[in-house]
Amino acid sequence: MLIDRRPHLAGNCYDPIGADGLQYHQYGPHIFHTNAEHVVAYLSAFTAWRPFEHRVLANVDGRLVPIPINQTTINALYGLELDQAGVGAFLARVAEPRAEIRTSEDVIVARVGRELYERFFRGYTRKHWGRDPAELDASVCGRIPARTNADDRYFTDRFQMMPADGYAAMVERMTAHPRIERVLGVGYHEIADRARFRHIVFTGPIVLQWISVAWGLDLINEDRTLSFVGGYQHEQAFSIILLTFLYITVFVSRLGVIASYLRLLIVAAGLAYANYRTTILAATAPTGVMEHGSPDSAATRRSTRWPAPTACACAVR
Ligand SMILES: Cc1cc2nc3c(=O)[nH]c(=O)nc-3n(C[C@H](O)[C@H](O)[C@H](O)COP(=O)(O)OP(=O)(O)OC[C@H]3O[C@@H](n4cnc5c(N)ncnc54)[C@H](O)[C@@H]3O)c2cc1C
Repeated sequence: MLIDRRPHLAGNCYDPIGADGLQYHQYGPHIFHTNAEHVVAYLSAFTAWRPFEHRVLANVDGRLVPIPINQTTINALYGLELDQAGVGAFLARVAEPRAEIRTSEDVIVARVGRELYERFFRGYTRKHWGRDPAELDASVCGRIPARTNADDRYFTDRFQMMPADGYAAMVERMTAHPRIERVLGVGYHEIADRARFRHIVFTGPIVLQWISVAWGLDLINEDRTLSFVGGYQHEQAFSIILLTFLYITVFVSRLGVIASYLRLLIVAAGLAYANYRTTILAATAPTGVMEHGSPDSAATRRSTRWPAPTACACAVR
């Protein structure tokens, strides 16, 4: 079953034909570009293609120049006639290397210097994202390259084109199958009951275990053995049970908003208690016990008869 609350297929790529006969990308322009031949081969079963290479011009000081910045951009802006090596040297001269690349401002200033950053990126980014590049992660502007050659295509992927009849027509053909039911104009929660299944497999514990082993997130037990998230320490086991409860009750069964939040709260409190109960109990223990050390010291553990909170970083780590 394919459900979409919008009244059409193709999600953000939806491109209806308007009353004037022109095709519009309703949610913003979408260009198909990939290096993966198998993706093209697969989609070609559902669409023919028309060649399309995206080229963008920026209006800088009344002059239209290519963006991403390339040889043509630099020569036009500065009245130069640099070759490719010359543009490389120019960019290397104006770039302001930064010790740490954290924000979009960092990545661009380090690549093309402050002046080109101000002229090309700052205003555009503020308009597009409503935030200054200094407030955005480096990955946002980092994907826009600076080129030394005259390639003025926005993308450099091997395959760049558009579905001949548009994305909506392509997705229509992809999903036209007797075993695919398409339900449009309906939110998932309005129709969740109709989605029938025989079993639900909750892989949370196995996935957590796998991640903890793969990332080496081991915990040293009191007996000096190692255990991993989802292992057999009872704090971990309890946390996993709570997470399973959370998944089943909040995400699978249909609950109202208040009931969902209430259960979320119970689980959060349960996880905190599972992982910090020694600390909590020690805090309420007689003062004499605390003098011997931290809450997970041997003295505290003996007095509270709870094991050390070694799993405090377990399932929720
Ligand atoms: C302006 C813009 C330009 C872009 N340009 C490009 C580009 O040139 N090239 C490119 O490769 N990518 C581009 N992208 C990214 C591209 O749109 C996404 O990667 C792609 O649409 C993701 O497809 P999707 O099916 O995962 O999600 P979407 O296309 O977002 O579809 C998700 C659908 O799920 C529906 N939905 C969500 N929640 C529910 C619910 N509870 N019940 C029922 N339905 C629900 C929504 O209504 C939506 O139609 C662009 C994105 C934007 C916004």
